[in-house]
Amino acid sequence: MPVKNPDSKKTSPAVQVDLPPSKHFIGGEWVDPASGSTNGSIDPATEEVHAQIAAGNEADVDAAVQSASAAFQDESWRRMPPAKRARILWRMAELVDENRANLALCESLDTGKTAFDAGKVEIPLVAEIFRYYAGWTTKIEGGVVPLPGNSLGLTLREPVGVCGMITPWNFPMLLASWKVAPALACGNTIILKPSEQTSLTSLWMAKIGTEAGLPAGVFNVVTGSGSAVGTPLVRHPGVNKISFTGSTEVGRMVQRESAETLKRVTLELGGKSPNIIFADANLKAALRGAAAGIFYNKGEVCAAGSRLLVARDVYDEVLEGVAAIADKTTVGHPQGEGTRMGPVCNQDQYEGVLGWMERGSEGGARLIAGGNSLRDEVGGGKGFYVAPTVFADVDPASAIAQEEIFGPVLAVIPFDEPEEALQIAHSTPYGLAAAVWTRDVGRALSMARDLRAGTVWVNAYNLYDPGLPFGGFGESGFGRDLGKDALAAYTETKSVWINLD
Ligand code: NDP
Repeated sequence: MPVKNPDSKKTSPAVQVDLPPSKHFIGGEWVDPASGSTNGSIDPATEEVHAQIAAGNEADVDAAVQSASAAFQDESWRRMPPAKRARILWRMAELVDENRANLALCESLDTGKTAFDAGKVEIPLVAEIFRYYAGWTTKIEGGVVPLPGNSLGLTLREPVGVCGMITPWNFPMLLASWKVAPALACGNTIILKPSEQTSLTSLWMAKIGTEAGLPAGVFNVVTGSGSAVGTPLVRHPGVNKISFTGSTEVGRMVQRESAETLKRVTLELGGKSPNIIFADANLKAALRGAAAGIFYNKGEVCAAGSRLLVARDVYDEVLEGVAAIADKTTVGHPQGEGTRMGPVCNQDQYEGVLGWMERGSEGGARLIAGGNSLRDEVGGGKGFYVAPTVFADVDPASAIAQEEIFGPVLAVIPFDEPEEALQIAHSTPYGLAAAVWTRDVGRALSMARDLRAGTVWVNAYNLYDPGLPFGGFGESGFGRDLGKDALAAYTETKSVWINLD
C-alpha cells in the first residue's frame, strides 16, 4: 500500500494565498465579466470552492480581441526596439521569481499538485522560459537571397498578429508560458483562455506583464469554459492564430473551427508514451525514471510514460522495483510536508481514473500496486486521492495500453526483441514522447532515430528545457512549443524583391 500522509492535511500553507480579482484582464485592467457572474474553482484536496472566477462569454472575447487588435496596430508594441522588449520579458521573469510562493500556492490549490513540484520545479521553469525568449527578441532575423539580374531578395520575419491561446489544467502557468513568452518575443498580442478550473496563475501572469511594462492590450486573459470562451475565440475573425494544448478530441474541433477563417494553428495534444527499458540499462536509474514518468503530477502529464516496455530478461526485477516505488510514494495533502503525490485535479478525473483501475485487468493484466481510491485514508472522506497504480502483463492492444488515462496508472508490457519494442511503441495513434534506457550507444541512437515521437529521452524521462522544442507526431498534434522552433509559429515570413536597376 502507498505510504499515506493523513496528517499532512492539517499542515497549514506556508504563505497566505493572494487571489486575483474575479475578473478578466483586458486592456491592462481588471474587467467585470459581461455576464456579471462567476464560477467557483474547486480545491481538489478538499472539494471546496477556494476561488471565484469570472464566467466569460462571447462579448468578453470580443472585447479582448478588440483590445489585442488595437494594441497590435499601435506601433508602440510592434515597432518597439527588440532590446526594450527583451527587458520587459526579463522583468516578467524576475516578477515570476519574486511572486513564486504565491504563484505556487495558487497552482497547488487549483490543480492538487504538490507545493514542491509547483514551487521548486514548475514556477522557476516559467521564469527561465521568459528569460530564454527575452534573449531571442534581438535575434529574430530574416535573410538575403540572391536573385537573377540586378535584383536582391530579402526575407523579413513579422509577428502573426492577434494570437488566441487555449491551455489545459495540468500545468496551467507553465504551459501558458510556453506560448505567451515566444509570442511576446515576436511582437504579437495575446488573448489567453486558461482552463476554467485553473485560471489563477494565468490572470497573475497577465498582471505581471503589465507591471513589467507591456503596453495595455498586449496580453489579455478571458476566463470561462471551453464552450463559452474557447469556441468564440477560435471562431473570431479578428484572431490570426490559435495555439491550443489539450485533448486530441477538442484539438480536432479547434482545427475544424479555425479552418473557416484560415487561422494558423498549433496543436499540442494527448499521448500514450512508451518508456522502454532494455536489459543492459542502469536499472536503478531506469526504475526511478519509470516511476517519475508516470507518477509526477499524478500522471496528469501529456508526455507521461504510461506504457512501460521492459525487456523480458529484466522484466520481473523491474515489476518488483516499480511496484515498490508505487507503494512507497507518499500520497497526501498537496501542501503537506513530505507529500510526493497530491489528489488528481477534479471529480471527472477521479471517477475516470478509478474506472480505469477497475477495468485495467479486463484484458488479462495483473494489478501489482495500488488500484484504489485513497479519499478516506488520506482525505478523511474528501479529496480526489488515488493510489499510484501498476498493471503487469498488459496486452499492448488492450484499452489500458491504448487510451490516454491521464492519471497515475502504469501499464507494463514485456518484449523480447528491439523490433518488437518499436512495433509496440508505434501501436497507438499518438507520437508525443518516448524514452529508451540502455548503456549501448548504438542502440540508444538507433532507437532515438526510429521512434516516431516528438521527444525521445535517452536514459532520462520528463525533462524539459526552454531551448528544446516540444510537440507531437501523429494524433499528438503538430507545431512546436519551446526552443527556436516556437518562433516560427509566431512569425510570418515576408519576401521582398528589390530591383536595383
Ligand atoms: P481539454 O481538451 O478538455 O481542454 C483543454 C482546453 O480547451 C481547456 O482550456 C478547455 O476549457 C478548452 N476547451 C474545451 N472545449 C473547448 C471547445 N469546444 N473549444 C475551445 N476550447 C475548448 O483538455 P484537458 O483540459 O482535459 O487537458 C487534458 C488533455 O490535454 C490531455 O489529453 C493531455 O494529453 C492534453 N495535454 C497535452 C499537452 C501537450 O503538450 N501535448 C500538455 C498537457 C495536456 P475548459 O477546461 O475551461 O472547459
